[in-house]
Amino acid sequence: MSNILIVIHVTDNEVKKSVFSAAAFAKQAAAFAGGSYSLLAIGSDLSGATAKLATAGAAKVYTAQAPDLGNALAERLAPIIEQVLLAGSFKMVVSPASSVAKDVMPRLAARIGAGMASEVVGLSFDAGRFTYLRPMYAGNVNGAVQIDTPIEVVTIRPTEFEALAPSGTSPVETVAVPAPEPVAAKIEYLGFEKAVSTRPDLAEAAIVVSGGRGMKAKENFVILEELADLLGAAVGASRAAVDSGFIHNDFQVGQTGKIVAPNLYIACGISGALQHVAGMKSSRVVVAINKDEEAPIFQIADYGLVADLFKAVPELTAAVRALKG
Ligand SMILES: Cc1cc2nc3c(=O)[nH]c(=O)nc-3n(C[C@H](O)[C@H](O)[C@H](O)COP(=O)(O)OP(=O)(O)OC[C@H]3O[C@@H](n4cnc5c(N)ncnc54)[C@H](O)[C@@H]3O)c2cc1C
Repeated sequence: MSNILIVIHVTDNEVKKSVFSAAAFAKQAAAFAGGSYSLLAIGSDLSGATAKLATAGAAKVYTAQAPDLGNALAERLAPIIEQVLLAGSFKMVVSPASSVAKDVMPRLAARIGAGMASEVVGLSFDAGRFTYLRPMYAGNVNGAVQIDTPIEVVTIRPTEFEALAPSGTSPVETVAVPAPEPVAAKIEYLGFEKAVSTRPDLAEAAIVVSGGRGMKAKENFVILEELADLLGAAVGASRAAVDSGFIHNDFQVGQTGKIVAPNLYIACGISGALQHVAGMKSSRVVVAINKDEEAPIFQIADYGLVADLFKAVPELTAAVRALKG
């Protein structure tokens, strides 16, 4: 029997789709090994999130709320997770891969002496053991790993697990939040710079319009934004575009940026370096606009247009506008 604990950090009462992807993973793992999955939500205010979290199919939803828990400090969060984990009979703890999880989960694993598999994209079960698939070498190969410790710590790539449809209502239990450990009290949280956008969340958007170094200047991103807004899409970028100061690094797609898997990914002025492709290759349909017919992006594109993007993108926008009436 293998009970599983999903861990999420909630800000602004926002329940991301990735919670339901983690639930899909946990449901699969619990079905393999026998058992159930529960969910631990941590945040400063969960009042607007709990009802939605309770529809993720969990046996129980644990809520840990305190004014300072809005700041995702690993030194503060890890002991709370450890407390819930060790009080239950959990064999696995899982979180959607995110910047917060990259900080918190290894610290948790170290505290409890557990092995960890990060960015898991697949799962199998044989002779009482899980085997996790995780990308290595910028996604060029998938390593198959097993964990030998009694509790297994895992982060999953939400894009690889079809989100469960919300249903039912799980019971909710409030967790008594322990006082900060001395190490957390030594850390001063200076602030969080949130990139504000009215567009869909890049990691969860159904359509992404991305620009690279070929955009040439920050001001030129307006042509991508126009197309994105017509399509209800998120805007993304290559690292070269971010490093050139065209766009905030929150919008970077790739190995060291966000992993996206939209239905449609439109790459404009992006060469298709493997570190970029590592972040978008699971997209269902890839459209590439590039003036260089030799650009590697065309090797993975479903539709490729060899053209100057400054001509092609406005034409595409006009065509979409005409179609929409
Ligand atoms: C450890 C590591 C991690 C990395 N992580 C990432 C990552 O997460 N994400 C990422 O994107 N990169 C990452 N990179 C960088 C990556 O290797 C590439 O340098 C980067 O992706 C290139 O960005 P680009 O395609 O925008 O620029 P370029 O490679 O310079 O390509 C620009 C393209 O624009 C085209 N172009 C120019 N003008 C026009 C025009 N008018 N019309 C149409 N096309 C035009 C050109 O033909 C060219 O193909 C990483 C690198 C390393 C070493």
